[in-house]
Amino acid sequence: MNKRDYYDTLGVARSASEDEIKKAYRKLAMQFHPDRNPGDEAAEEKFRTAAEAYEVLSDPEKRTRYDQFGHQGVAGDFGSGGFQWTDFSHAGDFEDILGNLGGIFGDFFGGRTRGRASNRGTDLRVNLKLTLEELARGVSKTIRIKRYMPCEPCDGSGAAEPNSVRICPTCHGQGQVQQRASSLFGVVMNVTTCPNCQGQGKTIDRPCGTCEGQGRQMKTVTVKVDIPVGAGDGNYMRLQGQGHAGVRGGAAGDVLVVIEQEPHEFFERQDDDIVYVLPLSFSQAALGDQAEVPTLTGKVRLTIPPGTQFGKVFRLRAKGMPHLNGYGQGDQLVKVIVWTPTELSGREKELYRELSGLDSGRTKTPENDRGFFNRIREELFGD
Ligand SMILES: [Zn+2]
Ligand SMILES: [Zn+2]
Repeated sequence: MNKRDYYDTLGVARSASEDEIKKAYRKLAMQFHPDRNPGDEAAEEKFRTAAEAYEVLSDPEKRTRYDQFGHQGVAGDFGSGGFQWTDFSHAGDFEDILGNLGGIFGDFFGGRTRGRASNRGTDLRVNLKLTLEELARGVSKTIRIKRYMPCEPCDGSGAAEPNSVRICPTCHGQGQVQQRASSLFGVVMNVTTCPNCQGQGKTIDRPCGTCEGQGRQMKTVTVKVDIPVGAGDGNYMRLQGQGHAGVRGGAAGDVLVVIEQEPHEFFERQDDDIVYVLPLSFSQAALGDQAEVPTLTGKVRLTIPPGTQFGKVFRLRAKGMPHLNGYGQGDQLVKVIVWTPTELSGREKELYRELSGLDSGRTKTPENDRGFFNRIREELFGD
């Protein structure tokens, strides 16, 4: 089957940020939602393909596989029958979108956002500051988080003893009740969370004294996270099931570890290239020299040819950041600046005066040396 490119589907560039992807998806989801386009199969198909694209591109790991291997790389994630709504792991995002639309979209997503799903613990977000060197080689970090854990005395049930748990008489254990309601599209049957048990399907006669019936307690725990080589500012990792425990045995949320890249002492990162500024003296630039240049993997020697101009960029191939997909790396760009001495000794002044009397010291203008100006512009602004 010839599937459309996910980036094209969402109308974003391959370099799009998480945020751009989310925005593009949200726009399409609002436009093509089936409840806004009743009976329009083309709209529903667009809605479905956008959700599938978002499912892959919003997950850094899936996105990396997709970037590397295309649709083949993520085919396994969707089982043999292709993408299903049950594959969609962004119920939270959807609630967000649905919330923005005023809640007129009833049950399109089936069980994912209804009934006992309300037991699910919330996600936790952790910002993790990392140095460029750590991101270049990949690193394991242990982070401390405060999160709800299942209550030990009641084993997460919230009940003082097992026989004090009863099936809810209002919803008969369903966790939801049906109500007639009028909507934009006429009278419909609305399914809502059971008001008696708040969607639990169970009630407790005697709550656990430790957690007061919540089935969970706040604890400080440590979590290990492996940061992949080449990750960058704003990349995040989802640690599934490591977030807050749900209420009374509900599924745990996730931890989102968001990477913050710390500013480097002397490197600038531009995508996967590293930029380093190399100051040269007049004489080094004019006569040439050997310079020692730091890189992420240690110092390298760089030959400065005679007549090197301010603005010249030397490219050290494959000395930049490793690509996140695991293949190859960026370059290091060494940008030359020529520095002017400010405190001259008597002997230096003498030599500069002597130099300034020679032809090579004369001021250049576009009139007297057009070729020079063109070359400098090329080096400063080209590339
Ligand atoms: Zn109930
Ligand atoms: Zn308890």
